[in-house]
Amino acid sequence: MNHQPFENWILDDEIELSQDQSLELKRHLETCQDCQRLYQNWQMARSFLVASPVVSPPSDFTARWQSSLAEKRVVQHKKQIRKIFLFLIMGILITSAMLVGYAVASTGLANVLVAMIKELVTLSMSLVKIAQVIRPLVDILPPVISAGAWILFTTTFTVMALAWIVAIWQITVKGVYNA
Ligand SMILES: [Zn+2]
Repeated sequence: MNHQPFENWILDDEIELSQDQSLELKRHLETCQDCQRLYQNWQMARSFLVASPVVSPPSDFTARWQSSLAEKRVVQHKKQIRKIFLFLIMGILITSAMLVGYAVASTGLANVLVAMIKELVTLSMSLVKIAQVIRPLVDILPPVISAGAWILFTTTFTVMALAWIVAIWQITVKGVYNA
């Protein structure tokens, strides 16, 4: 059976059929199962193409970009915290060295060593305790809140560290003047 020109009429959307041609096609579809199947499949495929939603990558891209930005901020704040810890440890080392130097000059070396070891143990224990308290709190917070918390925490910590160093410094200087 010859299916032309009906196949072309079915498949080509550009072709505008005249009334006679439409009637001819209708009659052919009623008698020809092949063309009927082709017609139905093509109609279904076309409706599927129209109905299938367009995937929009921009929204996904924006979300990913924002989350990576938040991650960068958290990393930056963690770096700042690390710097402050380093600064604090430097301060502890310098003040300890000064205290040790002063103590060695005024009292016996054996007493100083015993006292120093005691102080170091106490200090490291308290530092570990502080880290244990702060760490889970920071991990629980979502990135946005955690960014603000980092700023608050670093500010408070810096002020406290500075106040502590100044206090130690003043005691040391006073001690030197009294002796
Ligand atoms: Zn046919």
